[in-house]
Amino acid sequence: MAVVGGGLAGAALAWRLSRRGVGVTLFTGGPGRRWTDATGASGGLVRGFEPDPAAAAVAAESLAEFRRDAVLRSWAGYQELTSTYVLAADSAPDRAEAAVSVVDGILPGSATIRPAAGLAPFRGLPDGALAVVELHAGYISPARLRNSLTADAVAAGAELCHVPVAGARPEPAVVLADGTVRRCDSLVLAAGAWTPRLLDEWGLPGQRLRTKQIQYTLGRASPPGLGAFVDDTSGLYGRPVSTGLFLLGLPSDRWQIEPADVAADPALARRVTIRAAERLGLGAWPGAAARTVAALDCYPAGRGGLRLREAMPASPVFTFTGGSGGAAKTALLAARGAAAELVG
Ligand SMILES: Cc1cc2nc3c(=O)[nH]c(=O)nc-3n(C[C@H](O)[C@H](O)[C@H](O)COP(=O)(O)OP(=O)(O)OC[C@H]3O[C@@H](n4cnc5c(N)ncnc54)[C@H](O)[C@@H]3O)c2cc1C
Repeated sequence: MAVVGGGLAGAALAWRLSRRGVGVTLFTGGPGRRWTDATGASGGLVRGFEPDPAAAAVAAESLAEFRRDAVLRSWAGYQELTSTYVLAADSAPDRAEAAVSVVDGILPGSATIRPAAGLAPFRGLPDGALAVVELHAGYISPARLRNSLTADAVAAGAELCHVPVAGARPEPAVVLADGTVRRCDSLVLAAGAWTPRLLDEWGLPGQRLRTKQIQYTLGRASPPGLGAFVDDTSGLYGRPVSTGLFLLGLPSDRWQIEPADVAADPALARRVTIRAAERLGLGAWPGAAARTVAALDCYPAGRGGLRLREAMPASPVFTFTGGSGGAAKTALLAARGAAAELVG
């Protein structure tokens, strides 16, 4: 099987396949590009809770695999932190409670739901907001995990090819930038934000995949008692990094950007600074240590999330992308499902 794209999605899929004894070649596109991909830039926040119970099941299952497997934990540099998810008052509390019970079934005792009023260090939360607090959550290094999964896949027999893939043929076959043609039984395009353009160039019917920029800023702050968090009432999200830095971001509205055109949006970075002061009282953040990181992820229309999709009906060409800004959380589980489908 040919897996095109050496981000977390492609690496996890190649790893799952090679562990099942499948002959797999992982086409990484070359080492240089990997620092600008979503996996290299990712904030790596992982938690079980999502407001949608189905999404919570996938995130919690993936996190549970880290928590029971010491090798995966060390490959990913998993750091456990409390995670707080603040939900607006009008955000269907029944659904949130259902999602908390899903997480509880997979990570018992981890998640509780309570009124957000008085929750430190948040300020000015709207009346009626709810907070889901999780004990078992935190962050990983998706880039480290990708590197370890790739190395282990190679140890299990996978082949690595760093020549960029320039095209595909329906046989199926992969056409490399140096003109070499490599036949395969199945071809999986796991090229993240590069996928929509590659599908167009290869003449494969569109899958209504779009790209979107994600951006955060690192700055100096250690708000006491604050671990990883998402505040749906202001859009702010973040986590501590190390040695006194704190990562903070807001959703961006930069859709359909080409990978070559990614650039930090200074207006968005300014809005993050204002929200950090209002919501968390961080008047001096980000300070002189400020660094803004921006990269793209791939978003499917309709049901989001990383999963295997047919590039054409009844063909052995698939995509494995659609991380939608959250696949560091779900890549392990998604790759397990995709490998089972491909082998089946
Ligand atoms: C800034 C940012 C912050 C994020 N924070 C979080 C978070 O806190 N928690 C969370 O769960 N998720 C987060 N995500 C989402 C998560 O990191 C991504 O969903 C995930 O990393 C996507 O992995 P991928 O392999 O699909 O894509 P990528 O990592 O983009 O990998 C695609 C790969 O395909 C390769 N490629 C492209 N073209 C070719 C070609 N022609 N031939 C060969 N290879 C090619 C590229 O070089 C690249 O290495 C974040 C994403 C971003 C961008």
